[in-house]
Amino acid sequence: MKFIGAHVSASGGVEWAPVNAHEIGANAFALFTKNQRQWVAKPLTDESIELFKENCVKYGLDACHILPHDSYLINLGHPEAEGLEKSRAAFLDEMQRCEQLGLRMLNFHPGSHLNKISVETCLDRIAVSINIALEKTRGVTAVIENTAGQGSNIGNEFWHLKYIIDRVDDKSRVGVCLDTCHTYTAGYDIVNEYDKVFDEFETAVGFHYLRAVHLNDSKKPLGSRIDRHDSIGKGLIGLDFFKRFMTDARFNDMPVVLETPDESLWAEEIRMLRSFE
Ligand SMILES: [Zn+2]
Ligand SMILES: [Zn+2]
Repeated sequence: MKFIGAHVSASGGVEWAPVNAHEIGANAFALFTKNQRQWVAKPLTDESIELFKENCVKYGLDACHILPHDSYLINLGHPEAEGLEKSRAAFLDEMQRCEQLGLRMLNFHPGSHLNKISVETCLDRIAVSINIALEKTRGVTAVIENTAGQGSNIGNEFWHLKYIIDRVDDKSRVGVCLDTCHTYTAGYDIVNEYDKVFDEFETAVGFHYLRAVHLNDSKKPLGSRIDRHDSIGKGLIGLDFFKRFMTDARFNDMPVVLETPDESLWAEEIRMLRSFE
């Protein structure tokens, strides 16, 4: 069975995220546990944590299907010591917030070399960053998202993800999130070569490391390396892909999260996707 939701708002407090997810008919969701554009945030209050957990139980939203996303400022492969240290501290804080909320995963973009270090050096740093955070936390899996490869962002090629995983000490707490828009714009033709792309993923990374999916259509073409999400069926990926996806059991029992641009369509998109199942 598929667990589908969207990256919902947590404005007013994290406890509102499960409410917002329920309102669009979701049985999974993503959220930011702090303002994603700021380095430092106030700690979560006990009240907020309790209400979050209560609301998740109330609406039948299980931690296995909740995928928090970290701040966009964090770069775990930062080429400079200061930026790297700041990112590692912020990432640890995000992991600890997940722990407090009883969540099991933290989704993040691997990082950027900023044209100052090689891809491999950047990937090595990311792996060390993950090891540091895992060492200091319990029960939360670091979920690396593939990227479109825009600018100097890495994680656009499947081998980047495996390279990082190979260097993480605790393999039971590292995994991958595939974003369909990123996969497509990174150059993997999921529209015309569905089987080939996912066979390639199986060989390069392995479905046993797949923990989540971001389900987005794309405004930009195959291989453009530009990250512009579109609503389901309205972009260049198109409905046939999403129909096939919904009947592919390899994506069952994990959060499938819409990050599509028009949130007024989320309830409708979820209903439509379910009709393909
Ligand atoms: Zn994504
Ligand atoms: Zn994106």
